[in-house]
Amino acid sequence: MKLHNSQDLETLRHSAAHILASAVVELYPGTKLGIGPAIENGFYYDFDLPVKITEEDLPKIEQKMLEIIQKDYKFVRQEIDKQEAIKIFKERNEIYKLELLNEIPEEKVSIYIHNNFLDLCRGPHITSTGQLKYFKLLSISGAYWRGDEKNPQLTRIYGTAFFTKEELDNYLYQLEEAKKRDHRKLGKELDLFEIFEEEFGSGLVFWLPKGAIIRKIIEDYLRDFHLKNGYQIVYTPHIAKSTLWEISGHLSFYSENMFSPMDVEGQKYIIKPMNCPGHVLIYKSKLHSYKELPIRFFELGTVYRYERSGVLHGLMRVRGFTQDDAHIFCTPEQVETEILKLLDTVIVVLNKFGFKEYNIKLSTRPEKYIGELDKWELAENALKTALEKKGLEYDIDPGEGVFYGPKIDLKIKDAIGRLWQCSTIQVDFNLPQRFEVKYRDKDGQDKYVIMIHRALLGSLERFFAVLVENYAGVFPFWLSPVQVRILPISDKFLEYSQKVLIELQKNNFRVDLDDSGTTLQYKIRNAISQKIPYLVIIGQKEQQENKISVRQYGSEKTEVYNLEEFINKLKSLLE
Ligand SMILES: [Zn+2]
Ligand SMILES: [Zn+2]
Repeated sequence: MKLHNSQDLETLRHSAAHILASAVVELYPGTKLGIGPAIENGFYYDFDLPVKITEEDLPKIEQKMLEIIQKDYKFVRQEIDKQEAIKIFKERNEIYKLELLNEIPEEKVSIYIHNNFLDLCRGPHITSTGQLKYFKLLSISGAYWRGDEKNPQLTRIYGTAFFTKEELDNYLYQLEEAKKRDHRKLGKELDLFEIFEEEFGSGLVFWLPKGAIIRKIIEDYLRDFHLKNGYQIVYTPHIAKSTLWEISGHLSFYSENMFSPMDVEGQKYIIKPMNCPGHVLIYKSKLHSYKELPIRFFELGTVYRYERSGVLHGLMRVRGFTQDDAHIFCTPEQVETEILKLLDTVIVVLNKFGFKEYNIKLSTRPEKYIGELDKWELAENALKTALEKKGLEYDIDPGEGVFYGPKIDLKIKDAIGRLWQCSTIQVDFNLPQRFEVKYRDKDGQDKYVIMIHRALLGSLERFFAVLVENYAGVFPFWLSPVQVRILPISDKFLEYSQKVLIELQKNNFRVDLDDSGTTLQYKIRNAISQKIPYLVIIGQKEQQENKISVRQYGSEKTEVYNLEEFINKLKSLLE
């Protein structure tokens, strides 16, 4: 049972932002207010402060907030003339609020007041400050007013709030864990990836050998999987004439995420932000009869999107990434069956990587849409029916579909309970019309196909980051960059160690040998820090008896094996 919906939580958090602001104004007179919205996991408020504060000041601000909460002030809403509001904020010298006010077209605006704090705000709010019980201030950062580097830098205070102590504690635990699991930190420690911001550019990812081998394993798995499931693999170029992006509509709807065009012999070319138009061209290179449909193209397609440097974040948000992208060209009647198949596919693939809990959303027709209503209905019903037939729980997000069709979004839950947007399945009536993508039907008529865009893992870079954080760097055996490391107790056992190494390599395991000549203890510590699943220790006794001692990651025990036994054990792990 849900006691509170997300809207209530938003109201609570935004109210917490007001309380935070009133505390800051009391503590630091002369503070000017920016904005203070609720965000995904909490809230923030931006301030132009007369003094510099640090995270050490947060407890003091929390204390002041508690006082305001204990007084249980009412949140009072007032509708006033804009001119009056301008007067009020002028008196208070709230220059940022005045800037916002000047952009409001309406003649009436609403303000919210508690105690002697006053804010320009649409609301809604909780009834009184005493309703905020479980909150925490989390961090401080700089933020340009309205996100623009040309504007003054304000101080942003982040916090979070929940309805129960349990939810708050749980979230704080998650934050602690998340810090330890941060893929940027682990990526360095485990030599997985690099971003050479200075030398190469921001948001552009280098996969180091250990990360690259994991990516190769993921890619091999995906290609095999798609070939076995009725997809054809394609490759498409990375730049295309700007006229293509005009036809596709990207230049009108998506240009702010695209890199500027480059000039090639007087023609404008643009680096691709999406793979879809490429797949359309491949489909259109031949005439297709209804008998051939559905046609499914799969590509590990690398795309480039312009993201502001301020939002770039490790592998989670980058400027170049590879999608496990596919486009299905089908008839309207085939949509439901295809969606059913896709749901199976999504679950098999995500399970393979260890994700078993999902959060599914179905987004339906928005106010502004293209395509005929009956097609929308058909597609929405197909998505609903498929989800229900699969017995998958989902929420409907009314009106949140893309203008060209409804979609299913799937988030995966990681080991510490965080949700990550991962798979999307989108039905599209638009692109087929823009590009005249048709099939010849039974009646000899040429009809528009329906396109389904889908990505299962989404971006390989982002999914890899989620994997790293989910497993805290301890990858499952099949994904580990080094599965076994051989540790000779001393150089005397190098020869036997080499033999073991070769035998394991022959059996296709990823093995290395620590011949650094350091002490065993040091070698073990180093291997553990690399989170290698199996350590094979070789000394006098092992060499004499033609055996090996094995220590598994996370355990301090060693077990003695015949090499063949050990190989069989590893093989069984892969099945
Ligand atoms: Zn407000
Ligand atoms: Zn697409």
